[in-house]
Amino acid sequence: MDMEKIVSLCRRRGFLFQSSEIYGGLNGFWDYGPLGVELKRNVKEAWWRDMVSQHDDMSVIPGAPSTYEMTGLDCTIIMHPQVWKCSGHFDLFCDMMQTCRQCKKLVRADHVQDMLNNADWTNSFAAECFVTRPDGGATFDSGAALRWAKHRKFGRRLSPGLALVRNPEVTMSWLAEDVENGTAGELTLSLVLSYMATEQKNQTGLQMPCPHCGGDLTEPREFNLMFESYAGAIKSEDNRVFLRPETAQGIFVNFKNVVDSTRVRIPFGIAQVGKSFRNEITPRNFTFRSREFEQMEIEFFCHPDTSKEWYQYWRDRRFRWYIEHGLAEGRLQLRDHDPDELSHYSTGTADIEYAFPFLADGEFGELEGIAHRGDFDLRSHMEGKLDPKSCPLEVELGEDGKPKYKGSGRDLTYRDDLTNERFTPHVIEPSAGADRATLAFMCEAYTEDEQPDEKGKMQTRTVMKFHPRLAPVKAAVFPLVKKDGMPEVAKDLYKALKAKFPVFYDEKGAVGRRYRRQDEAGTPYCITVDGDTLTDNTVTLRDRDSLEQIRIKLDDVVDEIESRIG
Ligand code: ATP
Repeated sequence: MDMEKIVSLCRRRGFLFQSSEIYGGLNGFWDYGPLGVELKRNVKEAWWRDMVSQHDDMSVIPGAPSTYEMTGLDCTIIMHPQVWKCSGHFDLFCDMMQTCRQCKKLVRADHVQDMLNNADWTNSFAAECFVTRPDGGATFDSGAALRWAKHRKFGRRLSPGLALVRNPEVTMSWLAEDVENGTAGELTLSLVLSYMATEQKNQTGLQMPCPHCGGDLTEPREFNLMFESYAGAIKSEDNRVFLRPETAQGIFVNFKNVVDSTRVRIPFGIAQVGKSFRNEITPRNFTFRSREFEQMEIEFFCHPDTSKEWYQYWRDRRFRWYIEHGLAEGRLQLRDHDPDELSHYSTGTADIEYAFPFLADGEFGELEGIAHRGDFDLRSHMEGKLDPKSCPLEVELGEDGKPKYKGSGRDLTYRDDLTNERFTPHVIEPSAGADRATLAFMCEAYTEDEQPDEKGKMQTRTVMKFHPRLAPVKAAVFPLVKKDGMPEVAKDLYKALKAKFPVFYDEKGAVGRRYRRQDEAGTPYCITVDGDTLTDNTVTLRDRDSLEQIRIKLDDVVDEIESRIG
């Protein structure tokens, strides 16, 4: 499918506009137009309804290990700066960036990607530890490296993670002794270590030319993706605050408040929908990578013993949700970061990905990540964090390890009032993007077919085949002509429908053209009041996808549409 056509329809029909367009737009920021706002609201509402408000907490949902409760939160975008220090975002939420000495353009440092491309990756280490981003860059996931190392029984050697970073060469030879997979393992490990050493010393292993002009690039610098501002009148370090780069942390810091103020018992989930901000170096692909976007996140708290089953449950449940709302299974994939690691008890991450039309054949872009996070977040907010610069691995506090950032000191453990057991809950995090989901639903809906016009001539029809639950407008009402009392009947019907859901009324132009406008908006049903309506009280109901037209009683229209959109 041609992305250009989708982008042009979005603008023409009022789904999406560039932010501040009359001033030339602002890169990475998008406004939802009259149809887009309804579509995105429907995506968020469907998610909230299915995950939270209509969740049945009395019955076991198929696939779930037990019943569970769901509740919600709406936290602020700006939070105490310590939140981001203890979560790791302050130090680690970075991309590497270079500047071209000639053309002065900013370039995302992609030497890691280059290493990936040139290496013979015969084991899963690279897939797990270097997260390749849809925009071509790669992010090194140090937590995953530690988990991988533990999984491969390198934990013994790696546990003093500091040694790994402080003296990569020594550590490399230790590791080489232990490598199970022969040269491939050595190669991957040495690349990882050289990357880490590179980061440590702030120098590149490989010098890449500027992709814009071929010029020399500066040394890579870390670039933190969090937007900054100041709370209060004085712009001082003490007043520096950050716009949240994810909604999750608001949930973790409120964990105790929720437990204490409600009667929720573990297992339970807390959901939040809201804006997040990331100063992405290269925003691109329409809304896919924006600087301001909305997330729909769940932190699901469970007992460590059942966390693996809950991880499986959420991974499968969230995958099904996209299919239930119309994404074709053939264009979706559930990608486990490391299949070997899934059998390992404590951790795992899977991405739900969609074959967006702007990607090359066979490539997929992330819609949602489902992560088994263990007790990492709650512990960090209790105990604080080691200096992640000297120890980028997410190690637990060592015996003599002093946290660089003090935690809250609050007890975020949980006591089961039936068994009296006290433990730090494990967390499963399904983290979805509302804008990426909306974009996927738009790409999936965009269809062109050949249909006869009023004169029987075949014409290309553009139709947005949204799932009726997501369609911005559910029905349109037309009087066939603007006379003989037809508009009056049609307007009464419009009002009756409008009391239930968004409906459109249109009396201008040929009826065929009115149908086609609604097809482009994705309206699933059109109802036409004609001459017969005035005598037998029936109307024509047209189905957007099958184009079938049936006659139904005027009095039945509201119920019929309601039952069809579900
Ligand atoms: P990516 O690798 O594509 O940058 P991520 O792995 O950093 O994504 P997460 O931190 O897991 O993303 O965020 C969860 C979800 O939030 C993503 O699956 C995506 O749907 C959404 N999201 C993240 N960054 C952006 C962005 N810049 N623009 C739009 N949506 C985003």
